[in-house]
Amino acid sequence: MDQRAEDEKYMRMALREAERAFDEGEIPIGCVIVKDGTVIGRGHNQVEMLKDATAHAEILSIGTASGKLENWRLDGATLYVTLEPCPMCAGAILNSRIARVVYGSPDTRFGGCGTTVDVISGNALKRDVKVEGGLLADECLGLLKAFFQKMRLEKGDSGNKGDVGPKAS
Ligand SMILES: [Zn+2]
Repeated sequence: MDQRAEDEKYMRMALREAERAFDEGEIPIGCVIVKDGTVIGRGHNQVEMLKDATAHAEILSIGTASGKLENWRLDGATLYVTLEPCPMCAGAILNSRIARVVYGSPDTRFGGCGTTVDVISGNALKRDVKVEGGLLADECLGLLKAFFQKMRLEKGDSGNKGDVGPKAS
């Protein structure tokens, strides 16, 4: 399998993780970590369920991968995630020594891999991490859009982004 086909295969796995988040009422972001052709970690956003602002798909996946390898060093691993990692996750990627990041949709609000800030390029740890964005971006973004649309419908407001409805007074 060539690299592109392999990347798509793993991004589709990350999308399936994102769909699980969707079904659980979480912002649908999914992640898988692959090393030497084996999936060593996977996860999806669980901020609401775990009531933990750090429970991003990437952080949880890095945790499962490190647990599986019994090693915090994920040298040579590739992380696939449906949305560009935020600065927190980009920092965790550097700390875990992941070699390559492939993300789906850019995050124009809080992307940490070049879109709003760049934690990776020229990092102070001098880690050489390859970053590639835009793989299956339409599908990744489509799931997020569908989620926010559903949330708005359930809240019954007119659809203004960020409007959570009138406050009780
Ligand atoms: Zn994050």
